Amino acid sequence: MRRINVRRVKIHRNYTVDEAARLLSVHKNTVRTWIKSGLQTIDDRRPTLILGRHLSKYLYDRRKRSKQPCGPGQLFCVACRAPKYPAGRLAEFLPLAPSSGNLRGICPDCHGLIHRRVSRKDLAAVAGNLEVSAPQAEERIRDSVPPSHNSDFAMEANTDADA
Ligand SMILES: [Zn+2]
Repeated sequence: MRRINVRRVKIHRNYTVDEAARLLSVHKNTVRTWIKSGLQTIDDRRPTLILGRHLSKYLYDRRKRSKQPCGPGQLFCVACRAPKYPAGRLAEFLPLAPSSGNLRGICPDCHGLIHRRVSRKDLAAVAGNLEVSAPQAEERIRDSVPPSHNSDFAMEANTDADA
């Protein structure tokens, strides 16, 4: 992930969302996400103006936060660059290897997906008081077509190809 050059921000200037995005080479939506997650704006009038001093402080604070390790029950949000308790304290465990996987949840602030790599033996400790759902349950919710249906279809297709 590209590092944002906070030093480009002039503390005595005002920036529109557009200007701040261009200055820091990020998407406008990224700046809007910052505002939603605590970046102060001058007032509620349009266009939204951000004081350079606030922008600079917000980005430095965020950088500091990103060095914080996740505590029990926390997953790291890349967009907010901070450990977060997932929305509803819900997480899914997605196995990636026999001994480890990813905990996945939703960031309560930016609503993006947040992850934490965890080994199975540490899962209980890392998950803390989160409600962790099994991946099988997730597949069942997501797929309206039962898995057996899919494989029947694949077999039929193979048979047709052979004939
Ligand atoms: Zn977030």
